[in-house]
Amino acid sequence: MADYTLEIKDLHVSIEDKEILKGVTLTIKSGEFHAIMGPNGTGKSTLAAAIMGHPKYEVTKGSITLNGEDILEMEVDERARAGVFLGMQYPSEISGVTTSDFLRSSINARREEGDEISLMKFIKEMDGALDELDIDKNMAQRYLNEGFSGGEKKRNEILQLMMIQPGIAILDEIDSGLDIDALKIVADGVNKVREETGLGCLIITHYQRLLNYITPDHVHIIMQGKIVKSGGADLAKRLEKDGYEWIKEELGIEDETVNA
Ligand code: ADP
Ligand code: MG
Repeated sequence: MADYTLEIKDLHVSIEDKEILKGVTLTIKSGEFHAIMGPNGTGKSTLAAAIMGHPKYEVTKGSITLNGEDILEMEVDERARAGVFLGMQYPSEISGVTTSDFLRSSINARREEGDEISLMKFIKEMDGALDELDIDKNMAQRYLNEGFSGGEKKRNEILQLMMIQPGIAILDEIDSGLDIDALKIVADGVNKVREETGLGCLIITHYQRLLNYITPDHVHIIMQGKIVKSGGADLAKRLEKDGYEWIKEELGIEDETVNA
């Protein structure tokens, strides 16, 4: 697989003129797993949205490049085609497009014209992935996320990850609302892609629990819209034990949110 480098430098992002991210710097390379952790309202999902190019999130300063190319100049679909994938905290329902059709066109969008995946191969791969994720086969023929339970939506995000095989994935709270069995299935899916494709990944999570199943190489704590601390997997372990208070004390802050 090709090598990818996603480089975020001094990123400032505003929503409706309110500054949410206040200077995030982070580089993610193929094969590296980074976890972004932090309490609610600290800017985690805003970072994910800015990387993918959500129109509401305005980058006012700084840069994001993929393999040296400015992705801020790219439309959302161009970013996806270039190899960036977002697994969303709240996936949208898309009426009229089946999960299967969505997957197939997403895969083909990343391939050259004339080199589209054959229907046979697609179905075989999709059936394999549905099995591994313990997803009902009928789901593939239902409209994307429409009427899916919270857990089904999360599994569906990982189904997309497994099928699309992006270079760099941003996974936003893929653990929220999952019971322990579903969490393990989801983690197994991510780990499989990690092993097989050399995926580079930014895992956004509020709780340490997910990181018991997907071991990060690097852990970053975000507060007040900035990365305030970085370390290895042991940093996440400490959070499980001690929560976030000790970091706030270390930093001498009371309010960790972007509203501070
Ligand atoms: P986290 O994911 O860490 O919980 P978010 O990035 O979702 O935090 O939100 C950070 C702050 O930005 C919050 O105060 C939130 O209210 C605000 N915010 C995020 N998205 C929007 C939006 N679309 N419109 C208005 N405010 C938003
Ligand atoms: Mg969030």
